Amino acid sequence: MLLTITATLEDGADLGYLLHKSPGRVHSFELAFGVAHVFYPEVTPSRATVAVLLEVDPVGLVRGRGPDSSAPLEQYVNDRPYVASSFLSVAIGRLFAPTLGGRSKERPDLAARAWPLVARISVLPCRGGEPLLRRLFEPLAYEVAATQHLLDETRPDWGASSYFTVELRATRRLAELLTHLYVLIPVLDDDKHYWVGDDEVDKLLKHGEGWLAAHPERELIARRYLRHRRSLARQALERLLAEEAPAVGADQVPAAAEEEIEHRISLNEQRLGAVLAVLKQSGAQRVLDLGCGEGHLLRQLSRDRTLTEIVGMDVSHRALEIASERLKLERLPERHRERLKLIQGSLLYRDRRLDGYDAAALVEVIEHLDPPRLAACERNVFEFAHPRTVVVTTPNAEFNVKLDGLARGALRHRDHRFEWSRAEFEAWAQRTAERFGYGVRFLPVGPCDATVGAPTQMGVFER
Ligand code: SAH
Repeated sequence: MLLTITATLEDGADLGYLLHKSPGRVHSFELAFGVAHVFYPEVTPSRATVAVLLEVDPVGLVRGRGPDSSAPLEQYVNDRPYVASSFLSVAIGRLFAPTLGGRSKERPDLAARAWPLVARISVLPCRGGEPLLRRLFEPLAYEVAATQHLLDETRPDWGASSYFTVELRATRRLAELLTHLYVLIPVLDDDKHYWVGDDEVDKLLKHGEGWLAAHPERELIARRYLRHRRSLARQALERLLAEEAPAVGADQVPAAAEEEIEHRISLNEQRLGAVLAVLKQSGAQRVLDLGCGEGHLLRQLSRDRTLTEIVGMDVSHRALEIASERLKLERLPERHRERLKLIQGSLLYRDRRLDGYDAAALVEVIEHLDPPRLAACERNVFEFAHPRTVVVTTPNAEFNVKLDGLARGALRHRDHRFEWSRAEFEAWAQRTAERFGYGVRFLPVGPCDATVGAPTQMGVFER
């Protein structure tokens, strides 16, 4: 099993500093499951390649096998010695611990910089094939090249195997590349040679810092990394979520302008009224309020007796606490508690608790999401939760010129990541509707100005 990493550097020999291993010799390490050798097949003035050769001892493996051993024959005859797997991750962790942590005693400047890197993995088992390989590495901005191997080179009629020779290219810090390999190789292999316990969650969160929360496949990564132990995967995702929560916020003070406009024309109430009317018209009985904040819409919904189930979701724990208090959830009789629920969750994660509802409202929420993450929210709402009706409201940026307290080009709220013109919102909504098989119509909310339109815009999606 061979992994090579080629780095283009100002001085090829710097790779030795980055890895804390001198290029001048072969470094060999005894590991619990075999031997690892680190050496440099190429060092030139401008680039260098490091190779990690892993010799897994299949007989030793059987002797020291963990609690989830396989069938007797498989114990001796298996792919483990030849493929990249969790053994390689463990080896990376042991051989390159400081590099993986982004540290360099002698040359921190090298460790902090992004370099053009190419990683080649001789044989990588990809359960899920090339599409999954791409879904894992491409969102992290790697160029992926993969060659699939036949089951048997002499018998092409037997078809393809799940083994690939893989090349990954990106300009990144070496620590990032090693971290991605460390986490994603066992995910692709969908196996781990050791028992997975609670501390694996910590490991995943530690190594996933800065990239996993935003990764579109974070659920699959957590599930596979934690060997399909659901409770651990859920725990990991919840902690990822919670760590993300402080950045967004119902907790934050709105800019003066938003308060002004909300107050003067009681826009908030008009908005809620419009959303309620649309939901009512749709005939929905089970509804979601996604990004429910402090529960203004929920309160109104809870008064409508034709609704049989109402769920409010928000990423902010603080907002949910306030909502719970306002709705007096604690004091509701048992049967009402089943009808009105609050859950903590993020629109950036696929969440099966949102499956099977008639309608969903996202009231003044999308503008709180980072534009690169909006795509995840779109899939989670329209493709996965897939309610028949979706109502989305967002500020109309054109109307901002009417707001006295607002500087030109400024946004209405500190936590808004963007505000769209009507054309921008409509283009997004049309694209999204088309992609997920919905139709969409638009309704202005609030007093409509002839030139700049209404302060709030609303899109009603139906399938
Ligand atoms: N819909 C409410 C709140 C709007 S403020 C109302 O109209 O009053 C936006 C809300 O979106 C905040 O409560 C914020 O915590 C929530 N939010 C932001 N990002 C989110 C995410 N990724 N998932 C779920 N909720 C989110």
